[in-house]
Amino acid sequence: MPRLPEIAYDHYYKWPEITEFLSAAQEQYSDTCALQQIGQTPEGRPILCARITAPGGDPDAKPAYVVKANVHAAEVAGATASLYLVRHLLSGSESDPSIQEMLKSIVFYIIPRLNPDGAEFILNTGGAIRSRNTPRYRKNGLYQEDVDGDGMILSMRIEDPCGSVRPHPTDPRHLIPREADDVEGPFYFVYEEGSIHDWDGGPISRAERSADFNRNWGANWQPEYEQPGAGDFPFSQPEMQAFARFVYAHPSIFGILGFHCGNNSVLRPPSTGSDDDIIAADLEKMKEIGLKGEEYTGFGLRAVVDYHLDGQKPIALRGHFHDWGYRHLGLHVFEIELGNIYNSLGTTTEDYFASTAQDRSDYYLEVFQWSDANPHKQAFVDWRPFDHPQLGPVEIGGWDRHYIANPLSEDMAQIAPKCALFILDHARRHPRLHIMKAAATHIDAAIYRVRATVMNTGDLPTQITQMGHRVTHNEPVRVCLQGAEVLSRGAVEQIGHLAGICGYRDMEWFVKAQPGTKLTISASTPKAGVATQRLEL
Ligand SMILES: [Zn+2]
Repeated sequence: MPRLPEIAYDHYYKWPEITEFLSAAQEQYSDTCALQQIGQTPEGRPILCARITAPGGDPDAKPAYVVKANVHAAEVAGATASLYLVRHLLSGSESDPSIQEMLKSIVFYIIPRLNPDGAEFILNTGGAIRSRNTPRYRKNGLYQEDVDGDGMILSMRIEDPCGSVRPHPTDPRHLIPREADDVEGPFYFVYEEGSIHDWDGGPISRAERSADFNRNWGANWQPEYEQPGAGDFPFSQPEMQAFARFVYAHPSIFGILGFHCGNNSVLRPPSTGSDDDIIAADLEKMKEIGLKGEEYTGFGLRAVVDYHLDGQKPIALRGHFHDWGYRHLGLHVFEIELGNIYNSLGTTTEDYFASTAQDRSDYYLEVFQWSDANPHKQAFVDWRPFDHPQLGPVEIGGWDRHYIANPLSEDMAQIAPKCALFILDHARRHPRLHIMKAAATHIDAAIYRVRATVMNTGDLPTQITQMGHRVTHNEPVRVCLQGAEVLSRGAVEQIGHLAGICGYRDMEWFVKAQPGTKLTISASTPKAGVATQRLEL
């Protein structure tokens, strides 16, 4: 069989390279990998999802694990980690017995880039974007644009005695905050490269509305004046709506993980409040699973509310993934923060969180050193004079912002495999139904007593978390007896949920049947799949 290309780590993939890789995966592993389109972006790109499972059996009837990445436009390393996982599973499907076994029982849905429009914007221009910039008219409002025609959207600095930043004393390319009583100058105002609506010389504001897809989930959603980036209503963003529809169409989903790029960490719920808002047993299990993530990746396990500088208060992210995944889906939810350029250049997350503003400014001096040592990357473009059609003489330069937001692409060669190990560890815990001890006893005439035990041998309970008991769409285990008339009870029984290793329920039926009759006992629940046992009387 032809081999999928290795993941390239010397750059981050733009959209055509991702679609090419996924198409090749589907073509070369047509038994195992199916490419699905779960929606379309406003710019017309398909939102692609790789479904990976062993052939045979209905994929919708298998427990499902979902990975999604790159909801934040700049955080393109998540796509690299996702494509690595695709490749790891597909090559493992030929050669690794543990992956072969896993793919028989479960299905992976991997969405490497949920926000391709945003990622294309930053990868092609280096411009500033959270998830989506929506243009809108504001008098004196700046909108990002490549005004000097070099293809990039960098920064503009304008010398002004009232400016808020000044050059760093040892590296004047680096602009640092102005200090008290500093009147020497030169000072600058810094803006994104762009043009201004109806500029009359007045103060420049930002015209674009900035959306943050990770504040657009349904849990604890708040309007934008309370939660910047939230959007107009929960799941108002087309990409997010497509994802939500996909998830609710797959009640089989038992595990969910997102990739982001920030100071490296394994994040767990909650996104608001405190650990007291999580049921104790769920918190304990989430920590147990998450600590495996810490072990595999070397990234510390943290609650989202604790993911901040040491001096700051706990954060509260409304409309955020973790509270949605836990409270709305009843799942153990993880996000891996893959790192950023500071991590790649040696600053740990613990150092960063303990840092002062001065330290954080100094980190940039290391980034300049790296940039100077790697001129082919063109990560920093030195300030150069430009005659702006509206503002007059300015200087344009600065960072191609995707380099700052991600770990160095080369580092993903080590990071991506570690993340895959954590995902496989989490995925292996899926609930798994078995029918044990099926037996029939002849009672009298054409009457038989049939007994069997339905058991969950997986690590997780069939409702995944204690919170899962409350989730309305979490269907309980159904047990069916087919092939004969059942006298004692309904042919279909709902038996509630079964605990992880080894929740079981003894079943008993009395049936009317002739000797030699073939019976089928089956048990199913979406997050644990289907178990079947045949029995001849
Ligand atoms: Zn992010």
